[in-house]
Amino acid sequence: MRVLVATTKQQGKRSNDFSFTNDGELVRYGFDCDGEDVDGVCGCKRSLIGFDSHKGTTTFCIAEMDINLEQVTKLIEKSLKASGFISPSDPEEENKEFIAEIVLETLSLWKSFDQFPIGLVLERRGVYFSPRIEKSGLCPICGEKIHLSGRTKDNRYIGSCQDAFTLEQWIA
Ligand SMILES: [Zn+2]
Ligand SMILES: [Zn+2]
Repeated sequence: MRVLVATTKQQGKRSNDFSFTNDGELVRYGFDCDGEDVDGVCGCKRSLIGFDSHKGTTTFCIAEMDINLEQVTKLIEKSLKASGFISPSDPEEENKEFIAEIVLETLSLWKSFDQFPIGLVLERRGVYFSPRIEKSGLCPICGEKIHLSGRTKDNRYIGSCQDAFTLEQWIA
């Protein structure tokens, strides 16, 4: 299934970027503070949390992983236990509900990127996500060193060489 994993690629594009996660680990929403700004000191509204590190990253990318619902549920349970959000002494029914809630939230987050290319780096701005791509590089059509100069009506990119290409081609 389509998942999001931590990456340090495109880090530093914003001055308040951070990445305390392990490269390649699965990421999900953390628990955002109330009243926190996207660019606030905490950083919870511009980051996602690693399953294993329990830490945040402001950059993550789209990946395809051979993993099923049962495995995702197990990993989330393990992650919530290890980070202390659930404890064996809590009522089992409550824990199950909480895990199911986080699984649902995580799967719907990942699924929202089904139509985007694998390898695309993303940033989070509160409830919005957007791609972080290089503005200059080698044209996938002519091979010249170019910068992006616009978009076509069908949402492809136009290079300074006047070639048009898709996002997939640009990040390949
Ligand atoms: Zn916070
Ligand atoms: Zn070109």
